[in-house]
Amino acid sequence: MFLELDMHYVRFHAVRGVPELPRVTFGLPVEPRSKLANSRGTRRLLMETPGCIGRAGTAPFLPMSRNILILDGHPDASAARFVHALAAAYQQGAVATGHQVHVIKLAELEFPLLRSQADYEKGEAVEAVRRCQDLMNWATHVVILYPLWLGSMPALLKALLEQMLRPGFAFSTLKLGRWPVKFMSGKSARIVVTMGMPAFWYRWYFRAHSLRSLQRNILRFVGFRRIRATIVGSVASLTRAQREAWLEDLRALGRDAA
Ligand SMILES: Cc1cc2nc3c(=O)[nH]c(=O)nc-3n(C[C@H](O)[C@H](O)[C@H](O)COP(=O)(O)OP(=O)(O)OC[C@H]3O[C@@H](n4cnc5c(N)ncnc54)[C@H](O)[C@@H]3O)c2cc1C
Repeated sequence: MFLELDMHYVRFHAVRGVPELPRVTFGLPVEPRSKLANSRGTRRLLMETPGCIGRAGTAPFLPMSRNILILDGHPDASAARFVHALAAAYQQGAVATGHQVHVIKLAELEFPLLRSQADYEKGEAVEAVRRCQDLMNWATHVVILYPLWLGSMPALLKALLEQMLRPGFAFSTLKLGRWPVKFMSGKSARIVVTMGMPAFWYRWYFRAHSLRSLQRNILRFVGFRRIRATIVGSVASLTRAQREAWLEDLRALGRDAA
């Protein structure tokens, strides 16, 4: 069984021209586990739910160079969107510290909706999706940014994840005992979500349900570990200084590849 699964894995990645799927988690900065409302204002809540959030830019050492994939998940291509600015800030920080970075801009992708289980299991991803899959294979750390829409990620981002994380790519079609093998093992992730409501409200009243779903049902399911998140609440009412502070926080996270 082991041999079969490994051969499946090797064959898939050889076909896709990806030399190697990183299976090792590199040394990550240890973030202090603080639950604090940022001193710049209580709206800037940094969460520490299981697998969630940490204080930006406080890592005690710089990690080694990592392959970072930034998935800018705002469906609106307008350059004026704050999520794009946050993605760019993370990229700036990461590049400045010598990390390798690729960016996927959801708003610029053309791909169909997945409409059937048959397509999910046996269908071929279109070229744009295959490029995204190759980048996810290449990455050791994936950063996903999106605005909260109707309590969850935008439908277009969910549609891309449905297309990308197919059986055979994200996990094995064969099972090892009861469970499929997770092909994204060894990767870490950061989720950055902006929203109209205050961050504490999303966390305490809504229990960050959609964020937890992305963490557990999607990313963990395919093997991601050490999934952290940053919630940018009350976006519309942030002052200019607060928005700049958030951008600086994202640069710091990028520098730490955190
Ligand atoms: C369909 C839909 C459903 C929604 N559902 C919910 C929901 O369920 N719950 C909820 O809480 N919210 C909801 N919202 C609100 C949504 O979450 C926020 O509008 C979104 O998170 C804001 O992110 P953005 O990138 O679109 O910000 P933008 O609206 O683009 O920008 C926010 C602010 O940042 C400023 N800005 C942009 N770029 C920069 C920059 N480079 N530097 C400094 N400032 C900048 C803008 O001028 C603006 O003032 C919904 C919105 C929509 C459209």
